[in-house]
Amino acid sequence: SITYRLENISKIYDEKQILNIRELEFKTGEIFGLVGPSGAGKSTLLRLLNFLEKPSSGRIKYNGNGYLDGTLPDLSQRRSITTVLQRSALLQQSVWKNVIFPLKIRGIKITESKTLEIEELLKYLGLHELKDQRADKLSGGEAQRVAMARAVVFEPDVLLLDEPTSNLDPSNISIIEKMIERYIKKPDKTIIMITHNIMQAKRLADRIGLIYEGEMIEVAKKDKFFNDP
Ligand code: ADP
Ligand code: ADP
Repeated sequence: SITYRLENISKIYDEKQILNIRELEFKTGEIFGLVGPSGAGKSTLLRLLNFLEKPSSGRIKYNGNGYLDGTLPDLSQRRSITTVLQRSALLQQSVWKNVIFPLKIRGIKITESKTLEIEELLKYLGLHELKDQRADKLSGGEAQRVAMARAVVFEPDVLLLDEPTSNLDPSNISIIEKMIERYIKKPDKTIIMITHNIMQAKRLADRIGLIYEGEMIEVAKKDKFFNDP
């Protein structure tokens, strides 16, 4: 099925058109890699998909919730979408408290089985020994792994990733890529990832879209994307 359908989307800042997308769909179950030069409009598109901002014109259909034009969807819809940025802010509290924060603010009870599940995730991410450490003492790579764990504990339907691994060393990149592939990618989840690294998009994504000056100039399955004919 289709998670998002965009129709004639534009975004204008200061009278300048930043995005102009005639038609685009993101499919449930896929990893979609968004590539393109700096300033092309990738982050702006992600903010529209998170319903943090409205398009200047056009409409976005999200799941079965009809077309969203003019008004932003209610919070209960937005809760099923989460974003991880290049540098996500963490609370100045323990790693554990950071990771369970999305559950706390949603009033979700942390059952014993959920606790075990989170502990497994932290082990998988090599964070288990750090779970009682304060987040402001972490390295950049550790902090980004915490941000990824925090983003997935409440099992969002949509995960929006804005260059989640840039500035990380290869071992941290590898841990996060494996986590995305083996832990997050599921038939009922949609992952949209901005990356400046085309090789990373080819490793992870099912489809890749190239944005250039606000326009989606190419969308293709990864094995077809920018391959010589
Ligand atoms: P990318 O993520 O591809 O690097 P962005 O979406 O961040 O690109 O930015 C696209 C363009 O929109 C840039 O020219 C940027 O300066 C501009 N822009 C982004 N956000 C705003 C804003 N809030 N106000 C004005 N201009 C913005
Ligand atoms: P509260 O502040 O409501 O007592 P906590 O945030 O301390 O709740 O803990 C919520 C849940 O997470 C509890 O089930 C607790 O046992 C578990 N928990 C808290 N800290 C840790 C930790 N460092 N490692 C594993 N489980 C923890």
